[in-house]
Amino acid sequence: MTEIPDDHPRAQSLRTRHRIEEGVEKGITSKQGLIAQGRGEAYDYLLGEQTTPSAERAERAAAAQLLLADHPVLSVNGNVAALVPAEMVELAEAVDADIEVNLFNRTEERMAAIADHLREHGATDVKGLAADARIPGLEHERAKVDEDGIYDADVVVVPLEDGDRAEALAEMGKTEIVVDLNPMSRSAQTAAIPIVDNIVRAVPNVTRHARELREQDSSREELEAIVAAFDREAALEEAERAIRQGELD
Ligand code: ATP
Repeated sequence: MTEIPDDHPRAQSLRTRHRIEEGVEKGITSKQGLIAQGRGEAYDYLLGEQTTPSAERAERAAAAQLLLADHPVLSVNGNVAALVPAEMVELAEAVDADIEVNLFNRTEERMAAIADHLREHGATDVKGLAADARIPGLEHERAKVDEDGIYDADVVVVPLEDGDRAEALAEMGKTEIVVDLNPMSRSAQTAAIPIVDNIVRAVPNVTRHARELREQDSSREELEAIVAAFDREAALEEAERAIRQGELD
């Protein structure tokens, strides 16, 4: 990987871009994933490449929601696997969630490459390969999930998800936590908890909040109060305002 000096103004963004490039080279990330990354970078640039106070609140609400869940599942696609494999494993451990590989452009090779990559980063049980259940309302390939994974989950984290699938999962009655830098995307608009932040910041932040809430021995009532206090409409509006009117340093 090309060395990027720390004082380069876009250092973090360039490093993230390189990880996606490497993901494509390793057969983890699709070419469409490169385009998705480009879109994300543009929104992140306008957000000042930092976690806004409103995103931080969403991340805390997401942590509380995950701790309250009976069966939380974290969905991983090619971009997520390239950008935050170890961080997703840590989050899964912090909230006792399953990890499921879930691809928009599903191929057996890419499913296997992502599962291996997650195992190299500490995952023990990776779901998604059985594909023995279907999300209703989607065409066959896009609908495949594991019966004892996403199909059975009550709370799902779907970062960088396609709008159709986010809507279909919500229609199944799942509580969705979406990570997406575009507050106007259908995925973010569908989510119970939309986190408008770069996934490289969002996932470690949710893990930190989950650990804090656990260390404080938070009761169910306290966790429910955090979730109830989260206002999704306000969060989406604040993110859109920051993007449209934000002051760049
Ligand atoms: P939708 O179908 O929901 O309307 P879309 O077609 O705009 O979405 P895609 O290009 O399929 O979306 O998915 C990429 C989405 O993920 C974009 O909204 C983009 O802003 C977001 N995204 C890309 N990279 C990141 C990242 N690193 N962190 C968070 N979000 C990201």
